[in-house]
Amino acid sequence: MNFARRCGAQGPSREAACAAVDRRIQEAGIETVRVAWADLHGSLRGKALVCGGTAHPVADALEDGLGMVSTILLKDTSDRTAFQVFEPGALAARPELAGFGAANNLLLLPDPASFTVLPWAPRTGWLRAEPFWPDGTPVAACPRRALQRALAALAAHEGRGLGLRCGLELEFHVYRITDDRLDPEAAAWPAEPPALQMIHPGYNLLSENWGDGAQEALAIVRHTALGLGLPLRSLEIELGPSQVEAVFSATDALTAADDMVRFKNGVRQALRRAGYHATFVCRPPFAAAIASGWHLHQSLSLPAHGQQPANAMRREAPAGSDPRPARQVLSDTGAHWLAGLLAHAPALAALCAPTLPAYARFQGSLMAPQAAHWGHDNRGAMLRVVGEAGDAGTRIENRLGEPMANPYLAMAAQVWAGLDGLQLRLEPPPATEAPYGPAAVAGEPQAAGPADGTPPPLPRSLGRALDALAADPVLRQGLGEPLWAVFDAVKRQECARHAAAEDKLAWERREYFSRF
Ligand code: GLU
Ligand code: MG
Repeated sequence: MNFARRCGAQGPSREAACAAVDRRIQEAGIETVRVAWADLHGSLRGKALVCGGTAHPVADALEDGLGMVSTILLKDTSDRTAFQVFEPGALAARPELAGFGAANNLLLLPDPASFTVLPWAPRTGWLRAEPFWPDGTPVAACPRRALQRALAALAAHEGRGLGLRCGLELEFHVYRITDDRLDPEAAAWPAEPPALQMIHPGYNLLSENWGDGAQEALAIVRHTALGLGLPLRSLEIELGPSQVEAVFSATDALTAADDMVRFKNGVRQALRRAGYHATFVCRPPFAAAIASGWHLHQSLSLPAHGQQPANAMRREAPAGSDPRPARQVLSDTGAHWLAGLLAHAPALAALCAPTLPAYARFQGSLMAPQAAHWGHDNRGAMLRVVGEAGDAGTRIENRLGEPMANPYLAMAAQVWAGLDGLQLRLEPPPATEAPYGPAAVAGEPQAAGPADGTPPPLPRSLGRALDALAADPVLRQGLGEPLWAVFDAVKRQECARHAAAEDKLAWERREYFSRF
């Protein structure tokens, strides 16, 4: 039996898609096909298969999978494995890590429907792959699979077929490289970033002047996104020095997460070829840098029945004259979802803001949230409710995230939190009008649960957010023990290495800024 069949993937439509991949490789004169999988941090890893020789590695991989070392799933942001895989008995004592061995292989099974010709790399094709163990069992700790599980649970809720729709707003920084610093004598693990210049001086929000100056770099971003088929709407100049922002149309959540992974990956590579450094770290390690947020617009869709899918967060008419209740704008479904996101905010932070510098952002960074508030069209609140009764575009913008977040994990976390709100019919508190008021002081995370009226402050550090995640049964069970155990261990290793570093800014520069 071939491996694709063992994984339950083979069938007539997949066979036709595999044949189509073969034809496109011939027609486009493709020389290599990258087989890629998004790791715990949402970065793509894989191998480049060679076309046109005497071997047929692409066809082989589509049928029999492609071996990859399993430790690739256990690595922190510096690429150090967070588990003792060679110590006899160490993994055996952890049944949730069943499958992982002494740097043994897992198999990547490419999805032929994902075949893309990369717009920035000549004669290069690309396939997204899913990880399986050799016996055909899916690797439970795969982040993309976690989002698929979450979306299936959402669709099954009360048999309503609810779907999550997401629109991405991603802030990031782009710099011109003046010296790539690839001197072999200076090699280090991890290495220093290149020497850089800004592409605009900042402090002139949405400035046409700065936009014109940054046009060469932004044109590369645009070509890359359009070449990948992404629904990019606009590119603009953000407030911070050398900071920009990309805004996308809403799609279903899985597509949006796939798109975010492909956007970050493609933009970094295409800009690097042209002598630019793009980074999605929350805050570049420079004194005047301004933090980047990843704002996730979300709504719920009802099955389409031949027309446009209906927005399950839309409310027909306002519920009264008091402007503060959520039901002024949101349907009952939308209000419960909002309450779920608030109730799980401390644990949600670990998955939406999974790096150390992201926590300084919650303590006074411009237009970033400080506590688990919601508000009507209020950019200081964690959740900004956009729209009004009768508006088909009604949605919740979650401003908690940072651009380095793994979108599969962050979106899955929205679903578990929101779904808990639906299941328990949680009620949101009234809208805040003072998101930076006295209640918004970052402090100790509280256990998740129905709100007692006071908004939980956002965790003070990544370590505190990990504690909140460990103590939140809804999000932890959503991830499942294998993925939770890997995420927790990898992120705690990152925290410990940061704590041990003498120069924190130098650590962040090498660990995050040069690589993400
Ligand atoms: N940079 C801000 C943040 O960290 C957001 C600014 C804006 O609203 O565009 O979320
Ligand atoms: Mg912005």
